[in-house]
Amino acid sequence: MTKTTFDDLGLNPKLLQAVKEIGYLHPTPIQEEAIPYVLMGRDVLGIAQTGTGKTASFTLPMLEILGTARAKPRMPRALVLAPTRELAAQILENLNSYGKHTTLTAALMVGGDPMQAQTALLHKGVDILIATPGRLLDHILRSGLILTDVKFFVIDEADRMLDMGFIPDIEKIVKMLPKIRQTLMFTATMPALIKTLSAQFLQTPREISVSRQSSTGENITQEIYRTTSKNKINALYNLLRTLNPTSALVFCNRKIDVDKVKTALQQKNMSVVAMHGDMVQARRYENLEQFKSGEAKIIICSDVAARGIDIDDITHVFNYDLPHNPEDYVHRIGRTGRAGKSGHAITFVTEDDDKSLIALKKLIQQDLKEHIVQSDDLKAPTETPKQPLKKSRIVTEKKSEPKILKNNSQSKSDSSGFGDDVPSFMRDLRK
Ligand code: AMP
Repeated sequence: MTKTTFDDLGLNPKLLQAVKEIGYLHPTPIQEEAIPYVLMGRDVLGIAQTGTGKTASFTLPMLEILGTARAKPRMPRALVLAPTRELAAQILENLNSYGKHTTLTAALMVGGDPMQAQTALLHKGVDILIATPGRLLDHILRSGLILTDVKFFVIDEADRMLDMGFIPDIEKIVKMLPKIRQTLMFTATMPALIKTLSAQFLQTPREISVSRQSSTGENITQEIYRTTSKNKINALYNLLRTLNPTSALVFCNRKIDVDKVKTALQQKNMSVVAMHGDMVQARRYENLEQFKSGEAKIIICSDVAARGIDIDDITHVFNYDLPHNPEDYVHRIGRTGRAGKSGHAITFVTEDDDKSLIALKKLIQQDLKEHIVQSDDLKAPTETPKQPLKKSRIVTEKKSEPKILKNNSQSKSDSSGFGDDVPSFMRDLRK
């Protein structure tokens, strides 16, 4: 059977040209299924995790449907809601690539940046608005933003919106939209409330779900390392030294641990930056850029801050903590093994994680290979910055020879001299 191409999907030559230039050969399953329905004008409920190509599955047909630029002051024609500014920025980046041969304009309205410049753009007029819910409501109140012209509405990562408490804001926003519109909703998981909301916001939607296997990516090697809370940082450090990943994401459950882990690894001269919700935006951007450019090889994140990290070449995801919610595990490890590449996900579990681990295995329906990190009483590196760490011994349950982790010598440290310049948060597709 011949594989579907983008030419088969009914997109116009300008979009096909852009897709060709980016180098996509074939649509991903979610794109192949969703794009024709969206082009038909149908509402779509997409159950797909990040990494499946879901962004193009709504941005490409959106650009097709909007056609040419017709932006009126304060009245966008398409609205995309995203839970975090990083994800919103990523959507804009995709729109910029896919829409580069069109005349359509798009802008970001996200929290953390000054309102003034966003208001100026709104008054000039944009076709597509990508916004976080709180900031959008601010603009409705303070900048005279009007949503009555919105014909195309997307809620991205709806389950994450729910976790972050944005549903009341979204309900307010939906009330201000015209009744006749096209609505798409994407979610990685389907909690009961999201199901209810989809019935409320969408009209007889076409439900598209990417296959079960991809929910934890078959191309991702998943391993568990059993350790103790006390020894976790050493275990992480030693594994990082041994594996020497080119691009690694380390997730912590708590912001305070993001900082602790970053400091500990920096003290060992590792090339590391961090990102969490309490950091000022300029610093978040700066750190993300350092990671994207490869200047920093490791980024330590909280779940929320990691939402917008869309990099195809993340080789390793480390769960410094097993997430309490097993669905977060799926989100996290979906950051590696993207776009057909292979990935490696390593999760540390301690004696406190047994219940969560059972829940995780039930969700992903997979047995994970387990290793035991045997530790002597090791001190955390923050307590002994000048002392070399003692070695941890990793023993696999298969009773293979214990592996002693090797040393490695990275020497790049996190820069902390951040300037005041925030990268531009709005871009014009015509640029
Ligand atoms: P998303 O699920 O939208 O976050 O997309 C994940 C990654 O897949 C993005 O970084 C895209 O660059 C990439 N991607 C999207 N569509 C395709 C495609 N048809 N072929 C190859 N890569 C793609």
